[in-house]
Amino acid sequence: MSDNQADLIVHARWIAPVAQDKEPSAEVLENHALVVRDGQIVDLLPSALANEKWQAETVQRLDSHLLIPGLINAHTHAAMNLLRGIADDLPLMTWLEKHIWPAEGQFVSEQFVFDGTRLAAAEMIRSGTTCFADQYFFPASAARATVEAGLRASLFCPILDFPTPMGAGPEDYLRLATDAMDEWRHDPRIQIGFGPHAPYTVSDGPLQKVLTLAEELDVPMMMHVHETAG
Ligand SMILES: [Zn+2]
Repeated sequence: MSDNQADLIVHARWIAPVAQDKEPSAEVLENHALVVRDGQIVDLLPSALANEKWQAETVQRLDSHLLIPGLINAHTHAAMNLLRGIADDLPLMTWLEKHIWPAEGQFVSEQFVFDGTRLAAAEMIRSGTTCFADQYFFPASAARATVEAGLRASLFCPILDFPTPMGAGPEDYLRLATDAMDEWRHDPRIQIGFGPHAPYTVSDGPLQKVLTLAEELDVPMMMHVHETAG
């Protein structure tokens, strides 16, 4: 491959670059081009110069677009989009206890999570989200759907005091979480963590155990702590 040969050049009316390891600089470049080779951005320069410096098989022109880095959704229950619309106008505890937990008890499975995460992935891609932090059942199934869709995710395995379709209680959930960590340890697109659900669903004993394990294994946690005024 010659030095000026790239795979893709994207000319955009505007580009808002956010460099790795740097704060967004509020910089917006006009009439610039992004050059991609071997899956990596190798150049960012004025469109006029790009035409002189680079050649590529694929050239895209986005004449009225702002090109930005992928968005990150910092809190999801992705597969729950299969329950979208169920009792969605009720206070949190009524919604959970009377509607969502019973529905999850009836429907949630590994297949449900795989299918629901796939659908969520399609919706995320459509709106520019390329990475998300999720807390939902069967994180290994969510991981498969995520990688298949070409996205990245941190997936936090729920820990609760009571039985769910994923197990009988905290011991089961912790084992499932650590199994998923082992399975996905070497995939750079997936990070598995612990998701102790909330102060009202995890008592102090299991929560302490989660904290100890998270520190030992050096993995992150996600927990609901300020969902509502209550
Ligand atoms: Zn949540």
